[in-house]
Amino acid sequence: MSETTETIFSKIIRREIPADIVYEDDLALAFNDIHPQAPVHILVIPKKPIAKLDDAESQDHALMGHLLLTAKRVAQQAGLTNGYRLVINTGADGGQTVYHLHIHILGGRQMKWPPG
Ligand code: AMP
Repeated sequence: MSETTETIFSKIIRREIPADIVYEDDLALAFNDIHPQAPVHILVIPKKPIAKLDDAESQDHALMGHLLLTAKRVAQQAGLTNGYRLVINTGADGGQTVYHLHIHILGGRQMKWPPG
């Protein structure tokens, strides 16, 4: 998939397509993944359209911290008291398919290592 700043996640932020939104604040949005890979599978995204982690800059320092703390908060809200996994797929080799930075929260089952 080509890299553009306009993605399906931009449309979710603007409420142009529906999503099962579980958290929102000024900087971030979290919604259930449409193809869940675990009993709990939530995506945390910045509202700022950063295509991938490689494109985050020093000025995004606070936003990156906010996303990680938001992931923790959303995981707790989802009841993942026994642990969970955070994943950021980055670029082609990372398996990224949507070029709007996102953190996957995966939980509700035992995760395996190494991932595929
Ligand atoms: P990645 O492969 O890391 O880029 O992850 C993209 C994720 O976005 C996948 O897990 C998809 O299932 C998910 N996804 C794609 N479209 C939607 C959508 N409209 N609503 C919710 N999740 C989506």
